[in-house]
Amino acid sequence: MNPFIQLGIRHDIVNAISELGFENPTPIQEQSIPVLLTGSNDFVGLAQTGTGKTAAFGLPLLELLDFEENHPQALILCPTRELCLQITNDLKNYAKNMRNVNVVAVYGGASISDQLHQIRRGVQIVVATPGRMLDIINRGAINFSGVRFVVLDEADEMLNMGFQEDIDSILSTTPEDKKTWLFSATMPSEVRRIAKKYMEDPYELTMGTKNTGNENIEHEYYVVRARDKYAAFKRIVDFNPEIFGIVFCRTKIETQEIAESLIKDGYNADSLHGDLSQQQRDKVMKRYRDRSLQLLIATDVAARGIDVNDVTHVINYSLPDEIENYTHRSGRTARAGKTGVSISIINGKELGKIRQIEKTLGKRFAKAEIPTGFDVVEKQLFALIHKVHNVEVNEKQIEQYLPRIMDEFKELSKEEIIKRFASLEFNSFLEYYKNAVDLNAPADERPRAEGDRGERGDRFNRTGMRSDFTRLFINLGSVDGFTRGDLLGYICNTTKIAGKTVGKIDVKGVYSFFEVANDDVQKVQSGFKGTDFQGRDVRIEISGEGSSESRSGGTSNSYKKREGGERKEGGFRNGSGYGGGNREGGNREGGSRERSGGNSGGGFRDFSGKRREDRGERRRKF
Ligand code: AMP
Repeated sequence: MNPFIQLGIRHDIVNAISELGFENPTPIQEQSIPVLLTGSNDFVGLAQTGTGKTAAFGLPLLELLDFEENHPQALILCPTRELCLQITNDLKNYAKNMRNVNVVAVYGGASISDQLHQIRRGVQIVVATPGRMLDIINRGAINFSGVRFVVLDEADEMLNMGFQEDIDSILSTTPEDKKTWLFSATMPSEVRRIAKKYMEDPYELTMGTKNTGNENIEHEYYVVRARDKYAAFKRIVDFNPEIFGIVFCRTKIETQEIAESLIKDGYNADSLHGDLSQQQRDKVMKRYRDRSLQLLIATDVAARGIDVNDVTHVINYSLPDEIENYTHRSGRTARAGKTGVSISIINGKELGKIRQIEKTLGKRFAKAEIPTGFDVVEKQLFALIHKVHNVEVNEKQIEQYLPRIMDEFKELSKEEIIKRFASLEFNSFLEYYKNAVDLNAPADERPRAEGDRGERGDRFNRTGMRSDFTRLFINLGSVDGFTRGDLLGYICNTTKIAGKTVGKIDVKGVYSFFEVANDDVQKVQSGFKGTDFQGRDVRIEISGEGSSESRSGGTSNSYKKREGGERKEGGFRNGSGYGGGNREGGNREGGSRERSGGNSGGGFRDFSGKRREDRGERRRKF
């Protein structure tokens, strides 16, 4: 027997939800439907968004109300217009095989007269946001004396948004003996208080632990320097070619700026915040829902109630001020049993906040490393290969060109053709990322996280360097025209050591650091003895034995002075490994992408610096 029938839902409703793909009840539906169907309990359900709670209360409502009567019998209050429309739509779908079911959505930012008109025509279920509901009540346009059930959905959000007084006023117009069903993702003391105030001995259902995030969400954090945040963010996005994400910022201005920068840099992104008109917000949301937008940059308030399935990543570009908001943000992914990742990009000082959130959620966050340029190139390349493999061929259209294409390739073997197709994109990835710097905050700039040692293993010392390697200082850097690759070549040519025994290379302005295997230190030192570079003696020192990293006094100051001078002249980005106005091309990751050709293999990143829409691909799904 269909499990929903077993729960007590009638056939015509079960047929409708089967069409929506509901085969088995979700855990919250399984546990709450039998309780709510009795119609005799107040109810508190602690459940995340995306767990199926709309049907958990919606199906019992459809069973309990008398649709022969055409007056309001159920009132559902929710925090946002988005959610209001969503619930209304869901209820209509569940009831599509039933007769005389009238559901009306009441929310701000839309014509009140249409809503009044629908109410006048007769309605049994009102789904409303508190502000507009109160407005309609104050006009005397609705009579709630026949209400039997009130649902407070996302109660914590409604309180966060300051709707407490409105809710009080609205509920005061409903009968004393109605039943109240409250759903909330978190249970702060304010929600506890309203549960106490409006309910009598409610049946309580907790899915998971209180204030715990969805089990299907993985939480990760990256530690970067504040100035590298945007570049790090883009690197993470590039490393996830199939991302369909929501990016949270703290302020409207930040939201707007990040979205603008992303668009300029060729990403498929747009912003959602309170300064946009309702019409603009609807448009953005429609594009996001239709998946013609890949990254939605949003503030907490604007993103409340966003209910889009298959969001793969939530990115906390800025951590929220309130821990509760972290739960709401991350709950936008891993909906309906899917998995998702919630990423936080933080600086070293914010690690304490991560620990606090971990404690509240009772979950450990994984510390992740910003991928290297090479990692990204590899990932993008294989995303492209995957895409080529799965591309739908339009046999009819391509047929006419095939003879000519075959003719062009007749000299080439299959391997050669594949290599060339792959290189078409690969070359532009390589070009873009060839000088990508390490964007992880250096170990000495981030507080040591518990478990760091375990994660990295004993091969790494306290500063994150392999213990069988030594860090060396060299008095050449980007002002001498060196990139990391150049420096590697120069070191190997001069000292005759193998490239693979050279570890991390950090090109600074007038000097650089590089790591070599301990066994090769001597060889490097003797190899550079007496060498000069464009008339300047080349100096090699073991880092920490008098290099600028640790040295105090004259020599150190002289480095600083030189760096300071050059920064002024050339826009030198101290410490990041980029040199302004030199062969590396300056602030590559911070700038636009116009320098490289081709377009993305991963389905979205546009290396040409041109927006996807400009190329008529607005509707493309990925
Ligand atoms: P909700 O938490 O009500 O917003 O539901 C989240 C998503 O899960 C919605 O897209 C629902 O359509 C879907 N959903 C709800 N219940 C089920 C079910 N029993 N089986 C499959 N999908 C469901």
